[in-house]
Amino acid sequence: MERYIECINPATGQVWDTLKIPSAVEIEIMAAKAREAFQDWSVTPLAFRKQIVARFGELVQENLEHLAQLLTKETGKPITQSRREIRQADRRIRFFLDIADRYLAPEVAYEDEKVREEIAYEPLGLIVNISAWNYPYNIGYNVFIPALLAGNVVLYKPSEYTPHTGLEFQDLFRSAGLPPHVFTTIIGNGQTGAYLTERIPADGYFFTGSHATGMKILEQCRKRTVPIQLELGGKDPAYVANDVKDLRKVAAALADGAFYNNGQSCCAVERIYVHTEVYTDFLKHFVQEVKGFILGDPRNESTYIGPLTRAAQLDILERQVADALSKGARLLLGGKRIPREGNWFEPTVLADCSHQMEVMKEESFGPIIGIMGVKDDEEAINLMNDTPYGLTAAVYSSNPDRARRIMEKLNTGTVYFNMCDRVSPYVPWSGRGHSGLGLTLSYHGLRAFTRTKSYQLLKSN
Ligand code: NDP
Repeated sequence: MERYIECINPATGQVWDTLKIPSAVEIEIMAAKAREAFQDWSVTPLAFRKQIVARFGELVQENLEHLAQLLTKETGKPITQSRREIRQADRRIRFFLDIADRYLAPEVAYEDEKVREEIAYEPLGLIVNISAWNYPYNIGYNVFIPALLAGNVVLYKPSEYTPHTGLEFQDLFRSAGLPPHVFTTIIGNGQTGAYLTERIPADGYFFTGSHATGMKILEQCRKRTVPIQLELGGKDPAYVANDVKDLRKVAAALADGAFYNNGQSCCAVERIYVHTEVYTDFLKHFVQEVKGFILGDPRNESTYIGPLTRAAQLDILERQVADALSKGARLLLGGKRIPREGNWFEPTVLADCSHQMEVMKEESFGPIIGIMGVKDDEEAINLMNDTPYGLTAAVYSSNPDRARRIMEKLNTGTVYFNMCDRVSPYVPWSGRGHSGLGLTLSYHGLRAFTRTKSYQLLKSN
């Protein structure tokens, strides 16, 4: 296994730190200590677990500026978006704290004069949580907050692009009073993740990342009879119907949905279908909107688009643009790398796209959007569903009934009406097909970290 991670600032290409990756033996020791810690943590009163999680949330907010600057340095995320992520993630903590008593308490499922039957929710045990870099707070909290509240212990492997943020989580949990080894950050790279899934016998593996890595994880965990959850990528579509009231407003919302965080969101809008009656006007408004985005140093308050986090993504974007242009797409904006140190790509708008093009079929995960015209709702539905992915889909229309008829036919875990690129703690976050297996968030996403035990009790004999 490699022994070090080089931390590179994506805005400058400069290495700013080098961190040692724990060895296999060290990982084994961390896992053994975590297992030991489970004995006490799993029987700690929920009120105490809630208190610690709440304190962790407060400490994160108290250190917001430092953490946001760090996130920007690690990922290149514009500073205003880093702060927003950290603030918004807190909503997830508060949601899980609010519902924990109700959904972790045992339930009476049946009772008569002779028997009483109950369902109890017990923690799974040792959770391996392998995470992505694009929203480490949001996607981290989705897993380790409910896991800890439910009485599990967690081995958390952040992405190699956000190791410092991962180490901050560990420090802040300790400062919040979490007993040692209940939450352990294991920094490392793909090999570290592979080691954790292949060699560490955990009681649940919760992964967020790409479909390609998700498939490796399934393979690595294939002989384990424990929950394996995969939150994977997307190729999320949006449809603009011909009855939208304010096309400029819709274009602005979709431009934000496509380019926020430089398009590096699992639920970013990645392809747009526009009714032909409003197609030309929509393109005009959309391009105008994207031209208004300020690109630059992610530390600047006014920056909306910074560098890409991963240098490797530049090749993918370049390939998608060349492929689309060779097949007849019209380049309305951008299309190339920006020649400066770091990972920079121009915000790119491609019109007149088709499903022969990679940009309409494969996850772009960058500042690039494919747009095409459709003649009616039926064609829009068929094209939106023409993908192996199934994370989210958005419908814009002034008619809620028409939109609902469309949404009911879309094969995704989440559908949006007149909104997009949004995650709420109250409803499950789940992908279909290549977008994943299982779910996070909502009360289901708390119970996902438990296993049921049925009590069948005779009242008298
Ligand atoms: P990757 O799949 O590249 O990596 C995810 C995590 O897996 C990282 O911690 C990575 O380590 C680790 N890893 C890499 N190889 C292995 C392996 N063989 N076994 C175990 N772990 C491994 O994804 P990204 O981090 O680049 O994240 C972007 C992807 O995540 C996009 O596809 C995006 O759509 C998806 N995503 C999905 C979300 C959802 O809720 N559905 C939310 C957010 C992102 P390392 O980084 O060190 O290589």
